[in-house]
Amino acid sequence: MTSVAVETFAMPAAGIRHDWSRVEIRALFELPFPELMFRAQSLHRAYFDPTEVQISTLLSIKTGGCPEDCAYCPQSAHYETGVKAEKLMSLDTVLKEARAARDAGASRFCMGAAWREPKDRDLDKVCAMVEGVRALGLETCATLGMLTAKQAEKLKAAGLDYYNHNLDTSPEFYGEIISTRTYQERLDTLGHVRDAGIHVCCGGIVGMGEAREDRVGMLAALANLPVHPESVPINMLVKVEGTPLVRGEELDPLEFVRTIAVARITMPRSVVRLSAGREDMSEETQALCFLAGANSIFYGPKLLTTPNPDTDRDMRLLDKLGMVPMR
Ligand code: SF4
Repeated sequence: MTSVAVETFAMPAAGIRHDWSRVEIRALFELPFPELMFRAQSLHRAYFDPTEVQISTLLSIKTGGCPEDCAYCPQSAHYETGVKAEKLMSLDTVLKEARAARDAGASRFCMGAAWREPKDRDLDKVCAMVEGVRALGLETCATLGMLTAKQAEKLKAAGLDYYNHNLDTSPEFYGEIISTRTYQERLDTLGHVRDAGIHVCCGGIVGMGEAREDRVGMLAALANLPVHPESVPINMLVKVEGTPLVRGEELDPLEFVRTIAVARITMPRSVVRLSAGREDMSEETQALCFLAGANSIFYGPKLLTTPNPDTDRDMRLLDKLGMVPMR
């Protein structure tokens, strides 16, 4: 793969705002597609090299048996999805996987555990994993459920760079998707993570049967956080047999692209991640997402428990588009 020198347009750095109204965000969604793409692309170039894509690898360090009832999730113990509950992985196995991810080009290694919240003894084990992964020269990220302020501080002391905790959808639609924890509890965890000095990775899922207004509401909630998440994963629902959302209607891929573009415009300095759902996405849709301002992907054959495009396919696509992994 060749690296291309790209002259980024000298766009004036637009102010970072935290006072987006829903009317404004709705108006962005309603823009003619070429206009929306131009605005997103202009802002993308003001803050990033548009040819670069940050690459993360995600490993499920504790799979299945989760007591939460997130309607999209095959790891919830509430649904019969065939995902077996497993114990927390050993430190050695995690480090072996992290080394392989690094050798395959990943710059960040995310560790996901299907917990409502970590128990303190489990947190100590995760802290050891964070230290080990960091020593390999990788950025570290974890997603472990809700955290107390103390737990967030412990993770920070172990060297955790990012914590993922998604808002999932709009506050109004949230109750249709999860009943076992509240939106406010999610916001509280995000506050603890931010206060501990850990970067925040926070986004949501589209294609769950929500209305456009819910996508507007989700992006308003994210863009109006006191500090924008450094990383904003936008997931397309992966329908898994056994979960309540398996029979829902498909979301138009262009609406997904619009969601990416509006995320880029409202949070111009954040890395916007094309997350779950890429396995079923055409190369053309993924290319449009990159044009709309997506500049991160998950890499590797599996995303927790659902399939992800294989690494060769991803590299071929980046190569075709003349794009390169972000260093
Ligand atoms: S999304 Fe996370 S919290 Fe929700 S059921 Fe799945 S593993 Fe549990």
